[in-house]
Amino acid sequence: MISVPLLVAGEWHQVSNRATGPVFNPSRGEVIAEVPMCKKDDVDLAIEAAAEAFPAWRDTPPVERARVFFRYRQLLEENFDRVCENITREHGKTLAEARGSVYRGIENVEFACSIPTLLKGETLENLARGVDCETMLQPLGVCVGITPFNFPAMVPMWMFPLAIACGNTFVLKPSEKVPLSAVLIVELLEKAGLPKGVISIVHGGRECVDALLTHPKVKAISFVGSSPVARHIYETGTRNGKRVQANGGAKNYLVVMPDADVAKTVEALSVAAFGCAGERCMAGSTTIAVGKAADRVLPTLVEAARAIKVGPTDIAKSQPDMGPVITAQHRDRVISLVESSEREGAKVIADGRGLKIVDAPNGFFMGATIVDQVEDRMTIAREEVFGPVLNVMRADDVDQAIEIANRSAFGNGAAIFTNSGKAAREFKNRVKAGMVGINIGVPATMAMFPFTGWDESFYGDLHIQGREGVQFYTHQKVVSSRWFGHGVGDVWKK
Ligand code: NAD
Repeated sequence: MISVPLLVAGEWHQVSNRATGPVFNPSRGEVIAEVPMCKKDDVDLAIEAAAEAFPAWRDTPPVERARVFFRYRQLLEENFDRVCENITREHGKTLAEARGSVYRGIENVEFACSIPTLLKGETLENLARGVDCETMLQPLGVCVGITPFNFPAMVPMWMFPLAIACGNTFVLKPSEKVPLSAVLIVELLEKAGLPKGVISIVHGGRECVDALLTHPKVKAISFVGSSPVARHIYETGTRNGKRVQANGGAKNYLVVMPDADVAKTVEALSVAAFGCAGERCMAGSTTIAVGKAADRVLPTLVEAARAIKVGPTDIAKSQPDMGPVITAQHRDRVISLVESSEREGAKVIADGRGLKIVDAPNGFFMGATIVDQVEDRMTIAREEVFGPVLNVMRADDVDQAIEIANRSAFGNGAAIFTNSGKAAREFKNRVKAGMVGINIGVPATMAMFPFTGWDESFYGDLHIQGREGVQFYTHQKVVSSRWFGHGVGDVWKK
């Protein structure tokens, strides 16, 4: 059994006197590791080490910091298969999905490599006569990252490469459900030549997180997870004087117009709803079929859902299309939401409940499920499901579809499938979501753009990734200067 280590002050070590939590291989339902539930003492050590490492790292020239990330990128490429297999084993997503997610992570490292350019300030000569003005971007100090289970490597990589490249030191608290991938990618960062103490890892749940949120030496907190926890992080962090960016949950609407291309739309809906077993914040959770779109698209969509091959992902050959969900408890919650929708009047038209996989009988599996005739009043229409379930709602026209989507408490992603530029334009301009796709089912942004959740999908001001990410991880200083020319040994006449 693996005992997951902590990294503090550049030393990996075990804590033996802490309660532990299980890390599963969800394909088998087996415990593969024990993760320590860190307490305030462990957090204090990590933060002190990060604070101590800060002055030297802050003064390291940005070009030298960037070189660490160039080497890191190379190491991630060399260890790519190892990282992806590890993700598959502790999380359950397919190897293809793991690969895609690690590429998204590597793009964040590539973005961090351009830090000398990203940190350049602006100058205005003669702001007033003889006065020049310049802006500088300076690191904050100790930054913290708290991450969810669904992207074990990618989401941590949304955070620490940019934070550290900006000159900060960083303490990562990965999800206690998938800590092994985080350990692996941080080991590689150390190998790339990051000085001791610049990055640390602690593990655990609420007690560990609350110690991070309240520590006086922590300057900024990046969080990704569910909305209730995001709100708690934002409120506690800001109350304690920290800068906070907290990404929450989602409920993303996919509007299908009657003129949409059926084959391409069905393929996109299927990937959006069932990719990563629906466990992603950009998953398409509800299709709104406009007018005759339901008749055109639903039969093919149901066929596509039924054809999705589900199975264990920890095998070298013949990967399935979809893996398990994260825990048995989570699968049961997803199933109970589908059951509640039936009680409330919805119709299950593709049913993945009760799926049994013969060669992995203890895995946490559920097949692709489509729930039709969903209405706003139903629990499944309001709560984030975070499993392989697609709701179907109906609308008479694009206006009504936008109105339905805009009633959501969340505001992460939304997409429209159409051949009409007019409908797409209306949708793009009026839908209440931060990331919009036009004939693209998962419009998740890449490293050079901010990840722009709205409403209950985001608490804070500056989003993760892109130039907003740089702003989040830096203070801006504006320097106005005037020189009189009367110094000792002055050679100037005036
Ligand atoms: P979660 O909120 O349960 O956990 C996220 C992190 O918070 C973990 O590290 C966990 O240890 C910690 N945590 C959990 N409960 C806590 C508490 N009461 N106090 C303090 N810390 C706590 O989320 P999850 O189940 O790991 O991940 C799934 C959620 O993440 C979904 O809601 C999904 O939409 C969301 N998510 C959002 C984005 C985004 O960018 N908006 C991206 C990925 C995932």
